[in-house]
Amino acid sequence: MSGTTILVIDDDASIHRAVEQRLEGVVDQVLKADSPTKGLQIAIQDKPDVILLDLNMPQIDGFKVCRHLQENPTTHDIPIVFLTADRNPDNLAKALNAGASDYISKPFNAVELEARVRVALRTKQMIDLLQERARIDALTGLSNRAAMDDALIAATSAFHRTGQPLALLMLDLDHFKKINDTYGHGIGDDVIRKVGMSIRGGRRPYDIACRFGGDEFGVILAQTDTVCAEQIAERIIDGVNKIKIRAGSDEIDVACSGGLASASEMPNGFEPAELLKAADEALYSAKREGRNRLAVAEPSD
Ligand code: GH3
Ligand code: MG
Repeated sequence: MSGTTILVIDDDASIHRAVEQRLEGVVDQVLKADSPTKGLQIAIQDKPDVILLDLNMPQIDGFKVCRHLQENPTTHDIPIVFLTADRNPDNLAKALNAGASDYISKPFNAVELEARVRVALRTKQMIDLLQERARIDALTGLSNRAAMDDALIAATSAFHRTGQPLALLMLDLDHFKKINDTYGHGIGDDVIRKVGMSIRGGRRPYDIACRFGGDEFGVILAQTDTVCAEQIAERIIDGVNKIKIRAGSDEIDVACSGGLASASEMPNGFEPAELLKAADEALYSAKREGRNRLAVAEPSD
C-alpha cells in the first residue's frame, strides 16, 4: 500500500522501534507518540490511516484515549488497534466493545502484526472510498449538495481571511419538467448528465462544480472577481445551450438560467447561506426576466 501512515501511541520506546522495523515496506510512515496527550495531538494534526494504541499507559489508559479519538470528528474514522499484553478474553472483548477494530498481543509476532495492520489499512481505505462516494452525485459525477455546502463554508472563510475574490454561480435548467413530460425521465436523466459534463468542461480546474439537487447546479468560482465570474458564467450557460440530445427524430433544446453573486458585493462578515441566497435570488430574477440568461446579484448597501 502506498501513501499510508500509522501512529503508534505507546510509552515504551522499544515498541516504537519494533513496530517501525516490522512494518517497513507495509506502511510509508510510522509516527510515534510516547504519551496519550502527544498521541491525541499527532492524531488530530496528521490524521494517520491506522492508530496502534497501547492499552496500559501510566497517564491515561487506552480506553480513554480511544474514547477521545472517537469523539473527535477529525479522528473518529481512524481504525484503532489496541496493543496489549493482556490475554484475558473479557478484557479483549472490552477493548473491542470500546470501539477498537482489533488488538495485537505483546510481544508481537511479526507476521501477525503485519497481517493485522494490513486489515486495518484495508478498512480505512474502504471508509475513505465510501466517504468520497457519499459526496458525489451519482448521475453526474459532480460534487453533491453536502460537498458543496462544505466547499462553500471553506471558500467563504478563506474570503473573510484573505479577501481573495470569490463568486457563486447557481444554474437551473429551463422548462426541464417539459423535457421529462415529453420524452420521459430516462431522457431527462441524459440531459442532466450532459449538463453536468458541460459544466465540468466549462469551469476552470480550481472551480468546484456541484449538482445542488434536481435540475439545479452550483459552481464556486474561487479567486474570481465579478467581471471574470460573469464571463465564466456566460461561457457555462452557452455550453449548456450547445448540448445536443436526440430523442427519436427530435433534437431537444437544452437551456438554463444563471444567478451570480460575488463575495465582494456582500455585507461584511456574510455567512455562506447568504451568498447562496443572493445567487439564488439572482437566478430567479433571470427566470422572471425570460430565462436562458444570467442575472447578477445587486450589491448590498
Ligand atoms: P423552470 O424553468 O422554472 O426551472 O422550470 P422547470 O420545468 O425546470 O421547473 P423546476 O426547475 O422546478 O423542475 C425541476 C424538475 O426536475 C422537477 C423534477 O421532476 C425534475 N427532476 C429532479 N431531479 C431529477 C432527476 O434526477 N432526473 C430527472 N429526469 N428529473 C428530475
Ligand atoms: Mg428548472
